[in-house]
Amino acid sequence: MSLTVLGCKLDDIDAEASSSRIIEFAKAKAGVQIVTLGTEMVVHAQRDAAFRSIINNAALSLCDAIGLLLAAKAQGSHLRDRVTGVDLIARICSAAEPDALGIYLLGGAPGVADDAARVLQRTFPALRIRGTQHGYFQLDDSPAIAAAIKASNADLLFVGLGFPRQEFWIAEHLAATGCGAAMGVGGSLDVLSGKVERAPESWRRFGLEWLYRLYREPHRWRRQLALPYFVWLVFIDMLRRRVGTGTANA
Ligand code: UDP
Repeated sequence: MSLTVLGCKLDDIDAEASSSRIIEFAKAKAGVQIVTLGTEMVVHAQRDAAFRSIINNAALSLCDAIGLLLAAKAQGSHLRDRVTGVDLIARICSAAEPDALGIYLLGGAPGVADDAARVLQRTFPALRIRGTQHGYFQLDDSPAIAAAIKASNADLLFVGLGFPRQEFWIAEHLAATGCGAAMGVGGSLDVLSGKVERAPESWRRFGLEWLYRLYREPHRWRRQLALPYFVWLVFIDMLRRRVGTGTANA
């Protein structure tokens, strides 16, 4: 089932089911885009119609933020947890291993995707990692990068260029890569590689990953203003719906 939060599609689907669907897409060579949706992305989508359209046309738009989870629950969703990029990559790689599906990692500073690939290979020894490419390339290089991914015969592509760049990159180049599914993963390659430390489990359990990130990377404070703004927008939206319903019922 799909919900809509502030005009953005959000699939009411947990990590396990998401991973199965993505593996099916890859096997079927469906050529689909997967979005791991965050609150900052939804705020950005309010003023970027092209970005919003990518989210709404994605095969899956997954709930990667506590704010979105709460907004989904307010609409009656039974979703119990977020679907985070790092967890989903691990699940997908675990499921890709027996099916001999190949993966490709694109994004991060030079060396990050290689380190993330080494960690994944150690964890899933039979996983077919078809290649890696760092994310600090010129726009003009994109067609050559897409061609290299195609030549690698990868089935699944993880793109960590930060939003909205990764979503636009996938939308424009996915067909040329020949991958069955491509997913934007933000800073997940940094976390997998060990470059960035993930919030401790206790912080994550209480949905405070964003606070931990702010504490570790205080320069992100401006970006994180999107969080209270998101809450405000959802509040106004709920109020509008309630007033709208009240008027309709009157
Ligand atoms: N990045 C990249 N190329 C760029 C800009 C950023 O590969 O031109 C990478 C960066 O190294 C980091 C990721 O994109 O690994 C962005 O991570 P962030 O957690 O900021 O993701 P977001 O919250 O923007 O999705």
